[in-house]
Amino acid sequence: MASLSNCLRQNGNRYLGFQMFIDFHTHYDRQSPDRINLQTFHVTTALQEADLPLICSLGLHPWFVDESWEDAWQNLGALASLDKVVAIGECGLDRHIDLPIEVQTVIFQKHLELAESIRKPLVIHCVRAFAELIALKKSSKSSVPWIIHGFHKKMEVFQQLLKHDFYFSFGTAILSDRSPVIQAIANVPDGRFLLETDDRQDISIEQIYDRAATLRQVSLETLQTQLLETYYQLTRLS
Ligand SMILES: [Zn+2]
Repeated sequence: MASLSNCLRQNGNRYLGFQMFIDFHTHYDRQSPDRINLQTFHVTTALQEADLPLICSLGLHPWFVDESWEDAWQNLGALASLDKVVAIGECGLDRHIDLPIEVQTVIFQKHLELAESIRKPLVIHCVRAFAELIALKKSSKSSVPWIIHGFHKKMEVFQQLLKHDFYFSFGTAILSDRSPVIQAIANVPDGRFLLETDDRQDISIEQIYDRAATLRQVSLETLQTQLLETYYQLTRLS
């Protein structure tokens, strides 16, 4: 978002007022004044506008899709245009579950058509289906950001996704010295990633930021400023 960049630059190195933590993907309500807490919901027929916090992300998670998913989908369509819904997902492809990949693909394609039509980014859950995901992105010619949440794979997968214009949300995997994702977080270009806690209640987003700042050899304040700018670029598309 140009106006935010200009504003930050005008303030030189003094980014006071912008020192926000952004938890880009969490399943918990952890609102606080210094935090953008993007809570994600698996949509059911029962979910209503009044159940949603100030900002959230909505989708049909492949783990929880059941035979009533088409009714849940109708509800998602009705809620997705609300201003408080800043992203669509998590949704995606998972080769570790019983739901046939063909059914998962149909449901995922509906998400990407919805995201495209209302100009909101896609938050993606992907397990052992990166080749299929890249093929779908190429064939869809989608123009909204595709963000892989909880990315923790090795450099080869990371580089493939980077080449195809994916974005990344890194979580608790970066806390481990042994994770192959250490190299990815150290090398991912500014503007192409965010951070998250996902389903971990025992980990704070502050811990993830501290670790990411160390691995990227930048100050916490610099990282906060960069990620705030990335967040606005990804979530304010029109
Ligand atoms: Zn999640």
